Amino acid sequence: MNIGANIEKIKQEIPSGVILVAVSKTKPASAIQEAYESGHRDFGENKVQELVAKAAELPKDINWHLIGHLQTNKVKYIAPFVHLIHSVDSLKLLEEINKHALKHNRIIDCLLQVYIAKEETKFGLDQQELTELLASSTSLSGIRIRGLMGMASNTNDVDIVGAEFKQLKTIFDNIANEIKSTDFNVLSMGMSSDYQLAITNGSNMIRLGSTIFGERNYPTS
Ligand SMILES: *Cc1c(COP(=O)(O)O)cnc(C)c1O
Repeated sequence: MNIGANIEKIKQEIPSGVILVAVSKTKPASAIQEAYESGHRDFGENKVQELVAKAAELPKDINWHLIGHLQTNKVKYIAPFVHLIHSVDSLKLLEEINKHALKHNRIIDCLLQVYIAKEETKFGLDQQELTELLASSTSLSGIRIRGLMGMASNTNDVDIVGAEFKQLKTIFDNIANEIKSTDFNVLSMGMSSDYQLAITNGSNMIRLGSTIFGERNYPTS
């Protein structure tokens, strides 16, 4: 498995405006280092503890993305350095991120995670919650809402997955038209199994793990 070559291949395949986040969860720091040496800088982890441990031993100019569910009591560990939080799904969480951002004199970039999948178990906001959270966020000076994140249903049915991505893109466009902020320009959707479909439907940030690093040996949530 040549990690650098895998990344290069994907970058050649995707449009230049699409940012590739290499999802390194469960993989050792050495694998990230290898990707780093090939020139890659954006890495995603889904657990705070793992992200913090890896950040401590890897180069400081890595852009760390938190892509998994974030508990309010763990915000403080990533607040000093996190590049983008993809998984904001409550006002309580947003307020906690704001508090720690201000403490570190930072503005932390966040995406709001929207519920688009048919499955009951997925995290994310519904339309109503999304609207409310966007309205509340304007008073939080330590937060910059950069866009939305979503995960499609875990199915091979491209009609279902395509429709879910399309739905998120429509929500994204509606908000962008309404708030008219140039900061609101990130649409994070697409994983190893569905990133081409996500890009076709307007994604400009994809999160790929197994395609880059190989299959994970143990499942994570
Ligand atoms: C694990 C994970 C990914 C990457 O999954 P792959 O199928 O390995 O590409 C993307 N997004 C989130 C939120 C994840 O937890």
